[in-house]
Amino acid sequence: MAMEYRNLMEDIVLQNLDTVMAAEGGCTCDACKSDVVAYTLNHLAPHYVATRQGRLMVKLQSYELQSRADVVAALSEAAVMVAKSPRHGRE
Ligand SMILES: [Zn+2]
Repeated sequence: MAMEYRNLMEDIVLQNLDTVMAAEGGCTCDACKSDVVAYTLNHLAPHYVATRQGRLMVKLQSYELQSRADVVAALSEAAVMVAKSPRHGRE
């Protein structure tokens, strides 16, 4: 049996990424999206669960209810920061 664990925070950030970035009005190319995700995940505590696939959705839904406001706030901050100084096109 393989080890199974996952950072639910990452799923919740990805679920809310497009909506928040669209609301902030900045660039939504893959480079900017990646920067927003990385910045956001560095500013939120991870929430790892060790669970098998079948039980994952239940845990994810319940955790999203608790953490969504924090995630959206962190994403907005990241989106504003990335929109101010995007790194796309200057690797
Ligand atoms: Zn961009």
